[in-house]
Amino acid sequence: MPHSPASPPSGRPPRSRRLLTAVAVPVLLLAGGLGYGLAGRGGGDGGGTGHDDAKAAPAPARTPASPVPSPSAGPLSGKVVVLDPGHNPGNRLHTADIKRQVDVGNGRKECDTTGTETNAGYPEAEFTLDVVRRTRKLLRARGAEVRLTHDGDRKFGPCVDERAEIGNEAEADAAVSVHADGAPAGARGFHVIMPGAVHAGKADTRAITAPSHDLGTRLAASFAKATGTSPATYINGGTGLDTRSDLGGLNLSRVPKVFLECGNMRDATDAGLLSAAEWRERAARGVAAGLTAYLTAGAGEKS
Ligand SMILES: [Zn+2]
Repeated sequence: MPHSPASPPSGRPPRSRRLLTAVAVPVLLLAGGLGYGLAGRGGGDGGGTGHDDAKAAPAPARTPASPVPSPSAGPLSGKVVVLDPGHNPGNRLHTADIKRQVDVGNGRKECDTTGTETNAGYPEAEFTLDVVRRTRKLLRARGAEVRLTHDGDRKFGPCVDERAEIGNEAEADAAVSVHADGAPAGARGFHVIMPGAVHAGKADTRAITAPSHDLGTRLAASFAKATGTSPATYINGGTGLDTRSDLGGLNLSRVPKVFLECGNMRDATDAGLLSAAEWRERAARGVAAGLTAYLTAGAGEKS
């Protein structure tokens, strides 16, 4: 691809330091055994989700300090994944902060938004955090280094430009922003949003449109299989794939990235799925499977 003279600054951090965070896995596993999770929906401020109900129980008889999985173990060893939980549960308390306009290359957008919620009041921002935490656990078990744009540890945001920048800084091999939609009742299903080619201001997605399309296609297939749900009835002829050039989180990304809208929170049937922890675990498996398929395809070809 032709490139303008303005190439990104050099001096990026070496990829080697990516291997370090795999050590966090045992901590999660131990925490999962404590059964501190809040069941189901609306579980507070994100403190207690992310454990795997199915695996928490078995006796810890063997090795409490079991061997730290080698950073090189697993099919995703050496890969860096950035997961972006859409919105933030705290955004609704910081409406002035998140209304600040940020530059997304071809325009200006709000720093962040509150997101939607189910009719019963389960917020999208809680949903996205839960799915992302579950996905992180699965990917780390496969050897990936996983970074989140936030982990319920900020009062609001980050802004969409910062969310993109976190993936860029990490030199992520792939990034996925997890959301749920707020379409009219009766509209159902998931869809993936891929970056259109944007070359304006500080946005230049030309190099990531093709790999992002590959990622998006694999993600849609894996998500359908894992969740048993269908592509959205209301987007792009039911293909489950959409392309947009107005999302800051995509426009400003320099690494392959897609958005995933897991379902429609405003449809009662979809909302029932999205509100169920068991379904969110399936959703996480779908996201992890899509990323794994993408990251292991044509090994050696990518980056
Ligand atoms: Zn959203």
